[in-house]
Amino acid sequence: MSSKATITERLLAGDRTALARLISWAENRDERFPEALSAVYSRVGRGWRVGITGPPGAGKSTLVNEMARLERERERTVGILAVDPSSPFTGGALLGDRIRMEERTLDSGVFIRSMASRGSRGGLAKAAVDACDVMDAFGIDSILLETVGVGQAEYDVLGAVDTVVVVLCPGAGDGVQAMKAGLLEVADVLVVNKSDLPGADRLIADMNEAIHVRFLPDRDWVVPVVPCSAGTGTGVEEVLDAISSHRAHLEQRGLAEVRRAKRLDQIRLVVDGGVSEALWDQRGFAAFADRELVGERTPYEVADSILETVLAGISAAPANGMAPEASGGARP
Ligand code: GDP
Repeated sequence: MSSKATITERLLAGDRTALARLISWAENRDERFPEALSAVYSRVGRGWRVGITGPPGAGKSTLVNEMARLERERERTVGILAVDPSSPFTGGALLGDRIRMEERTLDSGVFIRSMASRGSRGGLAKAAVDACDVMDAFGIDSILLETVGVGQAEYDVLGAVDTVVVVLCPGAGDGVQAMKAGLLEVADVLVVNKSDLPGADRLIADMNEAIHVRFLPDRDWVVPVVPCSAGTGTGVEEVLDAISSHRAHLEQRGLAEVRRAKRLDQIRLVVDGGVSEALWDQRGFAAFADRELVGERTPYEVADSILETVLAGISAAPANGMAPEASGGARP
C-alpha cells in the first residue's frame, strides 16, 4: 500500500524514475496502475497533447526533435511518446529515430519514451493515453505523441490528443496517399515538410485546395497548411504557432467539453474492446458462428441469432445503477 503512495508522491515531486515506472505499469497493464492513476488524476489536464502522424519518412521524428528544441527554448517541458502500432517490437526505424533524439534526453526538461504494439486493438491506445496522463500529472507542458504507420489503432490514439498534426512531404505519393488513408480527416494542422525539395509548392497548393473543397463548409476550424523544413529548422516555429492557434480555438469553443467528448470515446473504445474479446474468444461466439454458417444461412442471419443471444443476456443482467432510468430523477 505504502509503495503505491510512494510512487505517486514521487511522481508529483518530479521524480523521473517514478514517471518511467508508472508508464511501464501502464504499458504492462500492471494491476497497481489504475489506483496510481486515480491518485494523481486531479493533476491531469494541464499539459497540451499533440499527436504527430504521417507516412514513414515524411520527417516526423526530425520535426518532433525540432519542436522539442524550440519548446525548451521557450522554457516549456516536453514529453515525447513514440508509438508504433504496426510492430510488436521497438526496433528498426523507431529505434534509429530515438538514437537521433538522444541529444535531447540529456536535457532534464525532456522525457522520451517509445511504445510498441501490444495485444488487442484498444490496448495500445489505452496504454498511450495512460502514459500521456502520467506525463501530464508529472507536469509536462507539451506532450508530443508521435505515431508510426496508419491503421485503426493509430486513429484510436489520435482520437485522444488535443491537436493532431499530419506531416506530409513532396514525393512519396504526394497528398494522394494521405487522402486515401483518411489522414486529412483527422488533421488539425497539416505540415508540408521538406519544403526545401522540389514539388513542395505543388503539394502545398493541392492540400490547401483539398481542405477547402472537402472540409470548409462543415468545419469551424480551417486546417492550416504549414510549409516546413524540419531538416533545416525552417518553419518549425510556425508549426508551433499553428498548434497554439488550434489550442486557442478549442479553448474558445470550450476545452472541457471537447476533452469530455474524447474521454467518452475512450470509455467506449475500452468497453467495446473488452466486450468483443469476451464474447468472441471467451464465450465461443467465433466457434458458434463458424458452425452456424452452413447451407442457406446468410451471414446476417447468423449475426442476428448472435445478437439476439447477446441482447437477451443484456436485458436479463442486473443494471447496477447503469440503466438510464436509474441515473437520477426526471426523465423526459
Ligand atoms: P519519419 O519516418 O517520418 O520519422 O521521418 P524522419 O524524421 O526519420 O526523416 C526521414 C528522412 O527525411 C531523414 O533522412 C531526414 O533527414 C530527412 N528529412 C527530414 N526533414 C527534412 C527536410 O526538411 N528536408 C529534407 N530534404 N529532408 C528531411
